[in-house]
Amino acid sequence: MSDALPDAFGDLRARLAELDDLDHAARLLGWDQQTHMPPSGAPARGEAMATLERVHHERAVDPALGELLEGLAPWAAVRDPEDEAAAIARVARRDHDRARRVPADLTAELARASSEAMGVWVEAKRRSDFALLQPHLERIVELRRRVADCFPGADHPYDALLDHYEPGMTSAQVRAVFATLRPRLVRLIEGVAAAAPAPTLPGPFPVAGQRRLALEIVGGFGFEDAGWRIDDAEHPFCAGIAPGDIRVTSRFSHQDLAGVFAVLHEVGHGLYEQGVDPGLARTTMGTGVSLGIHESQSRLWENFVGRSRAFWEHWHPRALALFGDAALGGAELDGFLRAINAVRPGLIRVKADEVTYGLHVILRFELEVRLIEGDLAVADLPDAWSQGMAELLGVEVPDDAHGVLQDIHWAAGEIGYFPTYALGTIVAAQLWRAAQAAIGDLEERLARGDTLALREWLRERVHRFGRTVDPSDVVHRATGSALDPEPLLEHLEAKYGALYDVSGWR
Ligand code: ZN
Repeated sequence: MSDALPDAFGDLRARLAELDDLDHAARLLGWDQQTHMPPSGAPARGEAMATLERVHHERAVDPALGELLEGLAPWAAVRDPEDEAAAIARVARRDHDRARRVPADLTAELARASSEAMGVWVEAKRRSDFALLQPHLERIVELRRRVADCFPGADHPYDALLDHYEPGMTSAQVRAVFATLRPRLVRLIEGVAAAAPAPTLPGPFPVAGQRRLALEIVGGFGFEDAGWRIDDAEHPFCAGIAPGDIRVTSRFSHQDLAGVFAVLHEVGHGLYEQGVDPGLARTTMGTGVSLGIHESQSRLWENFVGRSRAFWEHWHPRALALFGDAALGGAELDGFLRAINAVRPGLIRVKADEVTYGLHVILRFELEVRLIEGDLAVADLPDAWSQGMAELLGVEVPDDAHGVLQDIHWAAGEIGYFPTYALGTIVAAQLWRAAQAAIGDLEERLARGDTLALREWLRERVHRFGRTVDPSDVVHRATGSALDPEPLLEHLEAKYGALYDVSGWR
């Protein structure tokens, strides 16, 4: 790094800073909308957010930005591949090219159609009537196909959509990974179903106690009042507004501990946002690289750490002190672990456990690929859904609300998003295995309540790169291998074999 950066790079940074500032404002408005905004603020908020998005888009596709990037390309091409400035120029150029490919009127049409569809979805779900949403979904599928058409180089039209959420990933790769996952998850679930059922925690769990436990736990991860907030929201999420301003949300119920696990999950997302190299602040690279890698972080903290024996060896006594033996079904750690790791095939994705979750995603992936291919008509979705749920999870779908209408993604125009949830879990297992190898006494540390070694390893191997390294490279650098479902399957088979006293899954 002895040579000075070209002046044009300074101009690029100034433009990226502006784009990120616009995003900053949009993230904050979005966070506020889901946490504090009174309902009657919605129409004005919608206008304000649409304006921010329009201005952002105009600047992102500005031909002057394109010329700047074009001019920097030869310089970036000969820099050290690890050089951050060159990576910024390279990724910014790809973003610009991608943004320019989709005509502004198509983007606007899609935004309008999905905003309308989301409103209809709420009503359709309430009435459990898919027919209400059907024409809106037909329109969205058509518009999404037109977006895919803007990327004629893709092997499959779905790939163009998937690439938006998981850069570089293809439907062929997802198909191959899911083909390995599917039969072994189904077999695991059959094994669990034949074993003695897991207990349920009796409760109740006063919300104040849950908040206290969650804050004590994530305090050890690096959550601190100076840089983080936690608020309530209908659907828990995390918004990394800026470095040093991470907002997570949760939703607590006195009936179970789901709110505590939601905090672990969202703080996992937040640690990723917080751990990006400060040198990438106020560029468009200072955030997680893809939804899949993001989800690998949340799942790692929620499931691999937060549902492990070692972790609860430390925290179970604290939970007993806060909620009492009766609420936890006795003072034994074994029963508690079986309860928080219960496997129960069900109808609803967001309530699914670690084992059944992947099958919910596989169903959605298969259906949305067929929608984009034109092999499945939107009108036939509810039937295809019921059939898939029966095959994959052995459950009968009673109505649309508990079936095809449960998720907002398709109504929101998001096709190609679902696979990232399962990809995240797969990557989490790969990272967990690599972290165990690198930190020899990881479990002993967790049993002492020490999570900082793991956080530092993740920061060094995953977080700090932000968007400057492709998702597949993140996995490769951190684990030494490509995307691989085997560590996840081995983890699940070993863990649930022991918890449910079943052997010989395969
Ligand atoms: Zn998540």
